[in-house]
Amino acid sequence: MKFLVANDDGIFAPGIKMLAETLAPFGTVAVVGPTEEQSGMGHAITVHRPLRVQAVDVIPQSAKSFTVDGTPADCVKMAVQGLGLTPDIVMAGINLGSNLGTDVLYSGTVSAAMEGVILGIRAIAVSLCGPQTYLSTAGHYVRKILLEDPGILNQPNLIPQDGLLNINIPAVPIEEVKGIRVTRLGVRKYENLFEKRVDPRGNTYFWMGGKPQLTESSDLDIDIVAVEQGYVSITPIQFDLTYHSLVDGLQTILNKEYI
Ligand code: MN
Repeated sequence: MKFLVANDDGIFAPGIKMLAETLAPFGTVAVVGPTEEQSGMGHAITVHRPLRVQAVDVIPQSAKSFTVDGTPADCVKMAVQGLGLTPDIVMAGINLGSNLGTDVLYSGTVSAAMEGVILGIRAIAVSLCGPQTYLSTAGHYVRKILLEDPGILNQPNLIPQDGLLNINIPAVPIEEVKGIRVTRLGVRKYENLFEKRVDPRGNTYFWMGGKPQLTESSDLDIDIVAVEQGYVSITPIQFDLTYHSLVDGLQTILNKEYI
C-alpha cells in the first residue's frame, strides 16, 4: 500500500514522524508536511505567492519526504498534482490536539485528509486529544485499528470514496483506552476564548485560546463525549454541506425561469 502522510503541525512535529513510523512496515510511505505549523488553517490554499518545495530527510522510515511552505491542503495538492505522487491513501496527522465536533471546520489536519478525498484518494485524519506524552497510544491504535484488528485499511468498503474517517484518540496510557466508538460530530464550545494582554508599548492585543467546555451530554455516539469518556472516536465525514432537507421547500418557492 502506498501511503501519503501529511499534517498541519509541520514537518518537524513528532506526530507526523510517529505516523510515518507506524505505517512504514505496511507499505511505502511518502511524507509531505508544511514547513511551519499550520494548525487552524482549515482548507486554505495559497494562490497569491509561489510555493517552495524542498526534499528533506527528517523521517528515515519514509521513502521520500518534502516540505511545502504552504498550508496542509497545499501539501496534499502539491504531492499529488505537483510532484506526481500516486498514493492509495492519504493519512493526516497525528495531530497534537483533538479535532472534534465543529472544530473539524478549522482543522488543517482534517482538511489535509479532505484534500485527498477531493483528489479522489481515500483519506483518514488522526488526532491525539492531548499532549505528546501519549503519542505512543495514538501510534498503537492507528496500527491496531487501521492495519491489524479490525484492520480498516484492508476493508476498503469501510472507507468512503467521497468522505473520510476522522479518528480521535484519547490522551491516556494504552491500557486505559476503553474501546472504539463510531460517532457523529458534536458541537465544540470554548470558554475564555480571548486573552486580553498588553504589549511592551502599552497597546492592547488579544490572543485566541480558550478551554473547551465540558459537554453535558452522555451520548457516546457523539465524538466529543466518546473521547471524554476514554474511547477512540471514529467519525465518517463528508464535504457536502448542503442542507438537504431545505432544498425541496426552497426550490418550490424560489426556482424561476427568466428566459
Ligand atoms: Mn495541528
